[in-house]
Amino acid sequence: MKIIRSPAAMTAWSEGLRRAGVTIGFVPTMGALHEGHRTLIREARLQCDALVVSIFVNPTQFGPQEDLAKYPRPISHDRAICRQEGVDVCFEPTAEAMYPAGFQTTVTVPAVARRWEGEARPHHFSGVATVVTKLFGMVRPHRALFGQKDFQQSVLVQQLVKDLNLGVDIVVRPTVREQDGLAMSSRNIYLSPDERARAVTLYKSLQAGAEVIKVGDTDAKAVRSVMDQVVTRESTITTDYLAVCDPRTLEPVSFVTSRVVLLGAIRLGSVRLIDNLLVNAPRRAS
Ligand code: AMP
Repeated sequence: MKIIRSPAAMTAWSEGLRRAGVTIGFVPTMGALHEGHRTLIREARLQCDALVVSIFVNPTQFGPQEDLAKYPRPISHDRAICRQEGVDVCFEPTAEAMYPAGFQTTVTVPAVARRWEGEARPHHFSGVATVVTKLFGMVRPHRALFGQKDFQQSVLVQQLVKDLNLGVDIVVRPTVREQDGLAMSSRNIYLSPDERARAVTLYKSLQAGAEVIKVGDTDAKAVRSVMDQVVTRESTITTDYLAVCDPRTLEPVSFVTSRVVLLGAIRLGSVRLIDNLLVNAPRRAS
C-alpha cells in the first residue's frame, strides 16, 4: 500500500491510472477506522479496480467548541486496516497542504445544510462540502462511497456532485451497528461505560418511531411523540432533535405517505450522537 501525503502526487497517481482505463474507488474518512469504515472500504474494493482511502481530520468542519484537538488519530491502526482490506493508496494530506496561505474558496449547499446538523453545527457542512470537493479534485475518483450513518451529509454530497457536475458516482451504504444497535462511530470512544450502556436509546427511539409507521399511523406528530418518549425516559439524555423527514429534501413531513427518514441527535454528557432510519410507509389496501 502506498502512503501519499502530497495532493499533487495523489493526482498524478490517479491520472496515470485513469489514462490506463482503471476505475478508481474512493472512501473519504477522518480516520479512527472502525467496522463501519471497513465495510465501506470492502464494498469499494469489490466495485472498483483501484482503491484510495483518505485520512484527514478536516479542521474546517469542526466548530470552535468541538473536539478537533482531541479527535482520535490512531494512524498505525488505520493504515493496518487499510492494508488488510487491500487499499492501494492511503491518502494523508496535511492541513497545510489542504488549506495553504491564501486559501479562500468555500462550497455551500444551503438548502440541504439548513436544518438538523446544519443548525446544531453552523459551519460544519460548508467545511464538509469544501473538503469533499477538494478531495475529489485531488483523488479524481470514478466512484466514492459514503455511509448512511451521516444521512444529511450523504444527501449533501449527492446534491453537490450533481450541482457542480463533478462526475463522481456516489454510493451510500447502510449504517453498521454494534450488537445492541448503537451506530458505530469514531466518537463512541468518548462514552463512559454508563453512557455507552444508555447510548442505544437513540436507535431504540428511531425503531419505536418506525414501528408506529409500520402499524399504519401516518401522523408524523404521533411518530415524533413516541420517539420523544423513548428518549425522555432516560433523564441523563437530552434531545437535540428527533424528526420525520422527506429523505430527499430533509424537510419535516406532516404525514407519512411514502418513504421517510427518521433523524435524531442526542447528547449524553459532553458526547453528541446522531443516527437515522429509512422507513417505508406501509402500502394501503385499495
Ligand atoms: P468519518 O470518518 O466519520 O468522517 O466517516 C467516514 C465515512 O464513513 C462517512 O461516509 C461516514 O458516513 C461513514 N461511516 C461512519 N460510521 C459509519 C457506520 N457506522 N456505518 C457505515 N458508515 C459509516
